[in-house]
Amino acid sequence: EATAETYEFEAEVSKVMDIIINSLYSDKDIFLRELISNASDACDKKRFLSITDDGSEGSYNGRIRLFMDKEKSLLTIEDNGVGMTKKELQTNLGKIAQSGTKMFTEALGTGADATNLIGQFGVGFYSAFLVADKVTVVTKAQGEPQLRWESKAANKYTIAEDNSEPIEGSGTRLILTLKEDADKYLDNYTIRDMLKRYSEFISFPIELWTEKTEYDTVPDPDAEVKEGEEPPTKTVPRTTNVWETVNVAKPLWMRNPKDVSDDEYNEFYKTTFKAYDTPDAHVHFSLEGQVEFRAMLFCPSTVPWELSQDMFNDKVHPMKLFVKRVFISDKFEEQLLPRWLSFLKGMVDSEDLPLNVSREILQKSKVLSIISKRLVRKALDMFDEIQKDEEKFARFVTNFGRYIKVGVIEDQDNKDTLLKFASFASSESNDKTGTTLPDYVKRMKEGQKQIYYISGSSKAAASQSPVLERLKSKGYEVLFALDQIDEIALQGVGKFKDFDVIDASKENADLGEKSEEEKKQEEAAKEDLKPTCDFIKKVLQSTVDRVEVSSRLTASPSALVQPQWGMSPQMQRFMKAQAA
Ligand code: ADP
Ligand code: MG
Repeated sequence: EATAETYEFEAEVSKVMDIIINSLYSDKDIFLRELISNASDACDKKRFLSITDDGSEGSYNGRIRLFMDKEKSLLTIEDNGVGMTKKELQTNLGKIAQSGTKMFTEALGTGADATNLIGQFGVGFYSAFLVADKVTVVTKAQGEPQLRWESKAANKYTIAEDNSEPIEGSGTRLILTLKEDADKYLDNYTIRDMLKRYSEFISFPIELWTEKTEYDTVPDPDAEVKEGEEPPTKTVPRTTNVWETVNVAKPLWMRNPKDVSDDEYNEFYKTTFKAYDTPDAHVHFSLEGQVEFRAMLFCPSTVPWELSQDMFNDKVHPMKLFVKRVFISDKFEEQLLPRWLSFLKGMVDSEDLPLNVSREILQKSKVLSIISKRLVRKALDMFDEIQKDEEKFARFVTNFGRYIKVGVIEDQDNKDTLLKFASFASSESNDKTGTTLPDYVKRMKEGQKQIYYISGSSKAAASQSPVLERLKSKGYEVLFALDQIDEIALQGVGKFKDFDVIDASKENADLGEKSEEEKKQEEAAKEDLKPTCDFIKKVLQSTVDRVEVSSRLTASPSALVQPQWGMSPQMQRFMKAQAA
């Protein structure tokens, strides 16, 4: 027996284990999902490493095996993935990688479902302690000695060299010594059921050690043997144990969309992206021809946790890239989606990229830009679908409206399509959904030649603006840019369907046609009020550019307006904030 070295868990780990055990005690089952997902990740990594230098797929066949020993109360989950070195055991199973307890507890505090948080926060392994008194990890990285990590929770673990049954090549054998009240996980049917639920979309075979009764045909010693005839036989039952594959390891995206149910898509989304909402829409499509690939996109129905803190969080990788069914990466700088679509989740499986695709290849690849263009088009189709459902669209606007406006600003090619989904508050729309430009145009009055907007800190403040008086009197609708992004987006539109989109507070705004009569009155007023204007300019000096007589006002005596090319007060505040 090799001597074991004792280590202490990082304080964070002990805290997280406490949280997991205390918040998930009624949901113990999820330990299996987490441990199978780790085994599958390890196989993904191994498969990726086994790609040969010439870029062809190696002969690696990943698999995950489960074995229950009722007498000793052991549940073993074994994979032939990458395994871990001593150093990796210490960092992966003794420390908390990125997020830490603080974020974990914060997320829990927001009322998020704890069972789904653990997968997202990189602490899934510790869920083993929900059902086990003792967790043993026998593991071997390629070319490294076989090691045994062991812990009975609390705050310590040990690492020793291991000479139990050797692991071939590399892999990990996780042995759970089950708690007394967790003996149901020794039952073949229970585990099989759970695997069906949690592991349907694992792309490696999951094999369960299962008792099978087979029937052998043997000569029947009791029967009479007749001359010239075959000797009589009988069948006898024989009980054996076999590795029985319990999942269909065919990737969902390889199936015909017609044969996949919404439930299956939703489950795939949850498993693959560690999400807990039901997506509001999905697309599943393929492209054949010079560039060949299959892809799926999902639109979440809630704002993913990481994005709720930071709209363009660069730790969020919305797309997973596969090459010929092999998972390559979800962390590459060459994004498959423009950043204004970073709230989506999806995957691409390319037939054209080499398996050993590198950053340089991705950078140069025309394939990637073709894929990316097509993904954007399909995303827009998906938003069309969402818009047909009022409830979903309202949710979409609240959750992701800002991304769409960033798209309006950053994606000139798709600007007009995106404007169908960009929603703004307006003098005529209800507060929940606001209005889109196409809807605005439908409501335009006879003779109205421009689309008007005005910026302000709130709808109430914006609609008080004296500048709007003339528009109001004409019954023209006004959009309210209540957010900096609204203003930047509307400013950039230029023309929408032949109509100029203009800031009503700018001096060039044509606020409706004037009659001859009105024009005459205006001229007269200009004459009359010249001394007044001169006086005001003298008092205000350089705080204003000019003081002029205006025909925009009906009830108020004066209004501050912006020069045609000037920045609105809202924009000025924004620029100041950016510079600070
Ligand atoms: P996550 O899977 O989100 O990274 P976990 O707590 O589930 O977080 O696992 C922590 C780390 O431990 C993994 O990232 C991986 O490096 C390592 N690990 C866990 N299980 C295995 C395994 N079966 N084979 C190899 N490495 C593993
Ligand atoms: Mg995990």
